[in-house]
Amino acid sequence: MTPRSKPQTMRARHDPCPFAALPRRLTFTADVEPSPAEPGGRRHLDATAALLDLLDETGARGTFFILGEVAEAAPRLVREIAARGHEVASHNHSHRDLEALGPRGLLGEARRARAALQDASGQAVPGFRAPFFSLTPRTAWAAAVIAEAGHGYSSSVLPARGFLHGHPAAPRRPFLWPLEGGEGLLELPVPLARLGPARLPFLGGMYLRYLPPWDLRAMSARLEGPLAWSYCHPYDIDAAEPFRRAPGLGLASSAFLWANRRVTLGRLRALLRGRVSIPLAERLDEARAMAGPAPAQSKGSAEEATVAAER
Ligand SMILES: [Zn+2]
Repeated sequence: MTPRSKPQTMRARHDPCPFAALPRRLTFTADVEPSPAEPGGRRHLDATAALLDLLDETGARGTFFILGEVAEAAPRLVREIAARGHEVASHNHSHRDLEALGPRGLLGEARRARAALQDASGQAVPGFRAPFFSLTPRTAWAAAVIAEAGHGYSSSVLPARGFLHGHPAAPRRPFLWPLEGGEGLLELPVPLARLGPARLPFLGGMYLRYLPPWDLRAMSARLEGPLAWSYCHPYDIDAAEPFRRAPGLGLASSAFLWANRRVTLGRLRALLRGRVSIPLAERLDEARAMAGPAPAQSKGSAEEATVAAER
């Protein structure tokens, strides 16, 4: 058997890269927001520039879910992201979870963010990602609101139990939220893999920073979700940020958010090297072709949104 014809799992076993078993097509995504330790700070601007350099270096094009607040304060950054070939998408206006916003609050924020991102980038903005992946069974009304705000797809569901939010009953594959009078909002759930009894979104954030290479390797070989993408934040690579207690968080949580950032760029580089990353907006036909049924009892209908708004 020649090396070229070895099955992927055999190649993965002998490859030093912990991500060798992942599919060749894997989209880089980032959530562009300030550091939790300094919500009014500007360190995310330089850190996002470093992420853009990494994508140039690896020949990757990705999707940047940007806060409307960031777009209004730094429209040049949004323009640069678009000019360098990446997709500009919305991370809503402020970094609040959907339940705290409610349907009316979400609609106002989503429209404001989309307008700021469109103005700054000169691109349509089909993509939306809820802060904290906070589209859950309790906020299923949000699918209709996200569509009403003009978005064509969402990347807002963690289909497992999360630290803060999760939707364990949601499919691991892309699915369409059934909406009244429309074809539905396409949802691209976070890719997961099992680690012991847990299912973790290991291709991003704290998991990518903290999991040891042997766990990343084992999890890469049992990826759940046919549409692979990674996620990160500018602060995940900002190893020079001085420690501060994050507003609203305890010392231990703040330290956990702050530490272990030195490894992130190298891990992202290893994820992207030898892979093809194109923006999620260019994979929507692929996603629709693999879409399964929506989670049971989560209609995401306009009626549900109206009822929730009136509560
Ligand atoms: Zn975020």
